Amino acid sequence: MRVRNDLRVSRTGAVNWVCPLRVRKHWNVGTLNASTAGPLTVRRCSDMQTAVISTIFNEVLAGKLLDRSAALALATARGDEFDCLLDAATALRDRHKGKTVTFSPKIFIPLTNLCRDFCGYCTFRKAPDEPGAKTMTLDEVLRVVRRGKLLGCTEVLFSLGDKPEAIYPEMKSFLREHGHERTLDYLYEACRTVLEETDMLPHSNPGVMGKRDLERLRDVNVSMGLMLESSSDRLMLSGNAHDNAPDKKPSIRLRMIEQAGKLRIPFTTGILIGIGETWEERIDSLFAIRDLHHRYGHIQEVIIQNFRAKPTIPMRDHAEPSHADMLKTLAVARLIFGGDMNIQAPPNLMPENYAAYLNAGINDWGGVSPLTPDFINPEAPWPALQILNDETARLGYELRARLPIYPEYIHHSGQYLAPQLLPLVEKLTDGNGLVRNGGPLAALQV
Ligand code: SF4
Repeated sequence: MRVRNDLRVSRTGAVNWVCPLRVRKHWNVGTLNASTAGPLTVRRCSDMQTAVISTIFNEVLAGKLLDRSAALALATARGDEFDCLLDAATALRDRHKGKTVTFSPKIFIPLTNLCRDFCGYCTFRKAPDEPGAKTMTLDEVLRVVRRGKLLGCTEVLFSLGDKPEAIYPEMKSFLREHGHERTLDYLYEACRTVLEETDMLPHSNPGVMGKRDLERLRDVNVSMGLMLESSSDRLMLSGNAHDNAPDKKPSIRLRMIEQAGKLRIPFTTGILIGIGETWEERIDSLFAIRDLHHRYGHIQEVIIQNFRAKPTIPMRDHAEPSHADMLKTLAVARLIFGGDMNIQAPPNLMPENYAAYLNAGINDWGGVSPLTPDFINPEAPWPALQILNDETARLGYELRARLPIYPEYIHHSGQYLAPQLLPLVEKLTDGNGLVRNGGPLAALQV
């Protein structure tokens, strides 16, 4: 009988696969044939597959970067291998991040929901004549931000449609009335006003832009973001999620993320899963982000967001990713990016069992607002902070509030934060670079 060094046979004949990371003592993977004369039979995992995954875990443990073929092998993990994959991701997260899990207490400002793109899954965008179409005035922005500040929030997320003035004369008129030609100029004024009037920290996510706008907005944002969503050009083809969304062309988005890296902007990006991409394309998207991070060091967090089907969208009949799909993607992402990266998943888009994401290697819940809804997914309220805190604690972690710039980018020797914003950031943070006095967490029951 061939004896593998990662298998142990108990006195009862149970065959246990010893997890190479030792994060669990062992997994029962089969039962030795009673006669011991026949071959070793392994339930659920083929010998070949188990050996491949075992090697991958050993290499990750030794600090080797996961390559594409290894990541694709992990994407096939099932049964005990899947559980061990989650354990490996959790162990890697714990080793680098300890027991701290963060979120950003934020106010969501949808500066305008007009947009020139038509993504197949979007309920946010509106045409000017549709009910709910809205571009906020600066007074309206300040009113909401001031209320958020009273609740202990520190981030002002500006999320808006992409270049609406390119197709809507109504937006052009609004901008002209407010002294601007372009939405990005109006955004700059909104960010500057928020900084000057409230001491809250803007993080803008206005879609695709070029070097000049990135450079300008860097002066009034502590970080910025653009979801890559997917690096697959196939999704731009007719009938796919991005077939009428010119700003979702992967090469354009990757170029902007690269430009942000050249400008040393702490940057948030990520992927949207379940929009028609294959597993291979999903993994390629993660590697495209990792490659840019290795070149510029500016990716402060990677979001893994799950598609939600809604009755009014073109993709309403498209299947949503399962919970297991989400867990596997999170765990594979953790192993691709390693222990230092901040991996984030939204808690409101799988409200029944989001806490299990903590068992797949995430260390951040993203922006969570005690005041404003998630305007991108208005049907999905964020969990109350008390519940988020309790769920995080239930799995053995401590919830802490962070700013929209992660601690490691505040005093980075590469100077990722515009120098004029540093005093304000320091005023809001404690010695660990987290929100001083806990922000809105201070009001929770312990
Ligand atoms: S997802 Fe963004 S870019 Fe696409 S239609 Fe909606 S607002 Fe526009």
